[in-house]
Amino acid sequence: EHLVIAVDGPSGSGKSSVSRAAAHALGVGYLDTGAMYRAVTWWCLEEGVDLEDRDAVAQAARDIPLEMGTDPSTPSVRVSGREIEEDIRTTRVSEVVSKVATNTSVRPVLQQLQRDLIAEIAGRTGGVVAEGRDITTVVAPDADVRVLLTASVEARLRRRSKELHGADHDDAVEATRDQIVRRDADDSTVSEFTEAAEGVTLVDTSDLDFEQSVQALLDVVRR
Ligand code: C5P
Repeated sequence: EHLVIAVDGPSGSGKSSVSRAAAHALGVGYLDTGAMYRAVTWWCLEEGVDLEDRDAVAQAARDIPLEMGTDPSTPSVRVSGREIEEDIRTTRVSEVVSKVATNTSVRPVLQQLQRDLIAEIAGRTGGVVAEGRDITTVVAPDADVRVLLTASVEARLRRRSKELHGADHDDAVEATRDQIVRRDADDSTVSEFTEAAEGVTLVDTSDLDFEQSVQALLDVVRR
């Protein structure tokens, strides 16, 4: 009855907001694993850890006094008690987070932390929606529900440009296209999203609005 729901997908697929809304609807906790890679990146920048120094960054991932908020309606990431939910979304962090996410000494550290958190949250709240890039495949391949949330490049472009410029007119779309293409190229794991792994349900949100996307995820959970 402790329902573990694993959701993977590329950036701009609506994965985070859709996962949060689904967790809220189900009355269970939520874990944003991308935020953990971002938090380690932010911590390294704060502490002056060289992001090229693979071992030093892995040690930072072991040492970071990280507290992940698990309430889907109030996203929170704390380091040493300091709220950094906003700091980890800045371009300062976004531009270099892939250095941390592609560090093969960091990944097993955070993956194990994520497994422990998933068990803890599920035990405490009756379930969990855990979201990222490798949750369905590596972190929680035995999850009760595994979903790959995708969206076409064009759909992701439309959403991002609306987010950034409050409009989806042609100029805004053009201004955003480069950013999306660059971000996909940087993204450590994006190549894994061309097809779903065995046993993983593919949910394509390209032609769905936000509410429909949440419903589509809940439909997979409830079937
Ligand atoms: O999803 P978000 O943009 O917050 O992810 C931040 C970075 O962490 C991205 O480079 C993403 O590829 C990486 N990531 C990862 N594994 C996860 C979650 C995110 O490598 N489970």
